[in-house]
Amino acid sequence: KKLGWAVVGLGKFATEQIMPNFKDCKHSKLVALVSGTPDKAKKLAKEYGIDEKSVYDYQNFDSIKDNPAVDIVYIILPNSMHAEYTIRAAQAGKHVLCEKPMATSEEDCKKMIDACNKAGKKLMIAYRAQYEPYNLDAIARIKKGELGKIKFITADHGRHVKPTEDKADVWRVQKKLAGGGSLMDIGIYSLNAARYLTGEEPVEVTAQIYSDPNDPRFKEVEDNVAFTLRFPSGALACCTSSYSYQSVKRGRIFGEKAWLDLDPISDYYEHNMKIGKEDGEMEPKIQEGNQFAAEMDHMSESVMQNKTPRTPGEEGLRDVRYMMAIYEAAKKGKSVKV
Ligand code: NAD
Repeated sequence: KKLGWAVVGLGKFATEQIMPNFKDCKHSKLVALVSGTPDKAKKLAKEYGIDEKSVYDYQNFDSIKDNPAVDIVYIILPNSMHAEYTIRAAQAGKHVLCEKPMATSEEDCKKMIDACNKAGKKLMIAYRAQYEPYNLDAIARIKKGELGKIKFITADHGRHVKPTEDKADVWRVQKKLAGGGSLMDIGIYSLNAARYLTGEEPVEVTAQIYSDPNDPRFKEVEDNVAFTLRFPSGALACCTSSYSYQSVKRGRIFGEKAWLDLDPISDYYEHNMKIGKEDGEMEPKIQEGNQFAAEMDHMSESVMQNKTPRTPGEEGLRDVRYMMAIYEAAKKGKSVKV
């Protein structure tokens, strides 16, 4: 059985990654679109065989409640708009998958959770790495004890943000829409990975932030962030995020018995794993899987089986809370307990 999905926001990620990957879904099909640009929406509806009656704009979006073909709404809008559209979708009686970061404040995250609970609808946050085979394999190896006790995690996520060249980067350098800079956009992958790899919640964070004051891209949002997390077991994570270093998305877990490298850890289609032990190094090959399809199908199955998704709203709220603590720690120049 396939549940019907509506995609809200037909930008770069929606059109280049999400919509084409419904083809590999077993339990999810694209049946509706929501966009502020009618021509674009019409063209995409035709391409994906979507009925024109199932194309909405931001004004008439609420009437999606009368469309029984739509079970789940996938919010792929600029970060600060996630809350409004999640709440409106829940009030329209739809389940919600929402992109990361869940929202730009803890308060908004809580409102989203409340709205979905009140409506009796599922809320999941799109942490695709938690549905990706290499990451799942790493988690399983750590759980089995292959690495021994975990001492450190390092995780780095950076790329050049190019608001003058890439339309999708325009809102990313605007605080009101993005909520923050590299941390909110990609540092969140390092933060989330440190949590799902250790299986723990941090108790204390420290951070430093630096943005070139003469770079016009960083008038409103931050560029470079270095942060540390301390976990109850004593494991530490040292993470960086940047909008101005050459593209990196990697993580390394340092255990007593072995280290495990994922480079990249959060790519769309390609991953690598390396493990170093006392008797040498190995590079396990794992079958790459379609993480987008796996993620969407997990949401559909959670709805069909009435189960809480693996990455619910509460998971998104935790990261937003830790990111706020990272900003606070950097501002105060002191560690912050969380
Ligand atoms: P994008 O700018 O390409 O898409 C955003 C869409 O929102 C556009 O179609 C735009 O027209 C629409 N929009 C509606 N109101 C807007 C407004 N007031 N200002 C600007 N745009 C408005 O951006 P994107 O890269 O597709 O990112 C969208 C969301 O997806 C973000 O939350 C981002 O963090 C997330 N994302 C996630 C991943 C991932 O791997 N999980 C990757 C990329 C983006």
